[in-house]
Amino acid sequence: MSADCLFCKIIAGEIPSTEVYSDDAVYAFRDINPQARVHVLVVPREHHEDAEALAGNPGLLSSVLKAGAEVARVEGVRESGFRFVFNTGDDACRTVFHAHLHVLGGEQLSGFGR
Ligand code: AMP
Ligand code: ZN
Repeated sequence: MSADCLFCKIIAGEIPSTEVYSDDAVYAFRDINPQARVHVLVVPREHHEDAEALAGNPGLLSSVLKAGAEVARVEGVRESGFRFVFNTGDDACRTVFHAHLHVLGGEQLSGFGR
């Protein structure tokens, strides 16, 4: 756990969240400001600053991606389609410095980029 990390506090239960999926390696919960009907964040329980840091632990990265696929299944968007997003760095508007996978879907999403 990293002091002053919002998502570490959510994982520890110090800040409330709505759980969607949980296992030994990851925790998934609803985004507080959803950008689609389904918008879930999948975070590794272990603190890593961003997706690039997470890539240094391929087993954990794989657990995050598998959990994202399970979230898509339980949220009922596996067939209709969904989007996985990792925002990294300023140009991507990243705001929370604990690696997280966005799972977006449940409606037609807009185009990508600008
Ligand atoms: P990013 O911009 O990729 O760093 O995404 C951070 C996400 O965390 C944003 O989509 C926020 O809406 C979301 N978020 C911030 N605070 C909370 C919270 N307390 N509970 C759930 N989601 C949050
Ligand atoms: Zn953290």
